[in-house]
Amino acid sequence: MSGNTKAWETNIRRVTPYVPGEQPRGNSVIKLNTNENPFPPAPGVKRVLKNMDFDSLRLYPDPTIGLLVDELANFYNVESDQVFVGVGSDDVLALAFLTFFNSDKPVLFPDITYSFYPVWCDLYRIPYELKPLDQNFGIVKEDYYEENGGIIIANPNAPTSIYEELSTIEDIVANNPNSIVIIDEAYVDFAGRSAISLIDKYDNLLVVQTFSKSRSMAGMRIGYAIGSASLIKALNDIKYSFNSYTLNKTSILAGVEAVKDRYYFSKTTQEIIDIRKESEERFSQLGFSFPKSGANFLFVTHEKIPAKKLYELLRQNNIYVRYFNMARIDNHLRITIGTRDQMKSLFDLLEKCINNI
Ligand SMILES: *Cc1c(COP(=O)(O)O)cnc(C)c1O
Repeated sequence: MSGNTKAWETNIRRVTPYVPGEQPRGNSVIKLNTNENPFPPAPGVKRVLKNMDFDSLRLYPDPTIGLLVDELANFYNVESDQVFVGVGSDDVLALAFLTFFNSDKPVLFPDITYSFYPVWCDLYRIPYELKPLDQNFGIVKEDYYEENGGIIIANPNAPTSIYEELSTIEDIVANNPNSIVIIDEAYVDFAGRSAISLIDKYDNLLVVQTFSKSRSMAGMRIGYAIGSASLIKALNDIKYSFNSYTLNKTSILAGVEAVKDRYYFSKTTQEIIDIRKESEERFSQLGFSFPKSGANFLFVTHEKIPAKKLYELLRQNNIYVRYFNMARIDNHLRITIGTRDQMKSLFDLLEKCINNI
């Protein structure tokens, strides 16, 4: 330590921060690096913004976020006291770590997953243990049968895109009656069945979802958790002890409109699944391989060209994808499914690069 360290500096809570994906400015870039939805939010969201009662912004928003909680409860066929809403699922997850991972035993999660999990553990001084995914990036469910202080699993996982069958998730929950299991389902609408169907059977299960991906509202910051009433109450107690007024009035109303429009939601989600299928064919033709995706992105590796080189080539041409300089995945790229036009630009460029190398 240097001689001029001030005493108070040793009291600062320090953490190695999570590094969010780049948000380049300007309209000329094709942005396939942070899994945003290429389609606009539901039309009702625009109406909310247009008709927003300016004067009402004087007043605090509803701290219970009641309108949106009720709308989500209706959508998922659960009770309102089984729903918690926060400022994006990052906020919900951060609060859930603080609320539920409070043991001397380690929290368990895969070695390759959402890189925010170890950051929250470090921030809150929660011990954790990484469980390596298998060779095909699948979850080894038996790894989660040992004693632990909680479990967090992203399903579909990021950045691998792999969706584990609900029976695997249920096995893990059923084998852990003494700890809380959080399933982060940011991408589940592009995959299959949600673990929400299990919450009445397991009161130690919390399912977290977001408006950022399948509902095209990353900029609005809305996330939610669904679980037993006792888990939701515990989350609310911590929330009110931290920041009572989390969601602003505009976001609450916009969120309600997005959930109401079931037709738009299924139409745009299906469109992304269709473009994903077409993209898989093109990637294969170009010599890429990838796991079967249950998300709005593909996790690709090329038979000849290193991922880092492709990442740089694409970037020089204003196409942003995600590269992770991390053990086991440093020869992969995570590429968001964009519009057909965006994917065509990507494939045209990839074809040119691959033929010139
Ligand atoms: C995108 C994402 C989130 C967080 O999204 P928010 O925008 O904060 O709702 C959470 N978990 C995973 C795995 C994600 O990919």
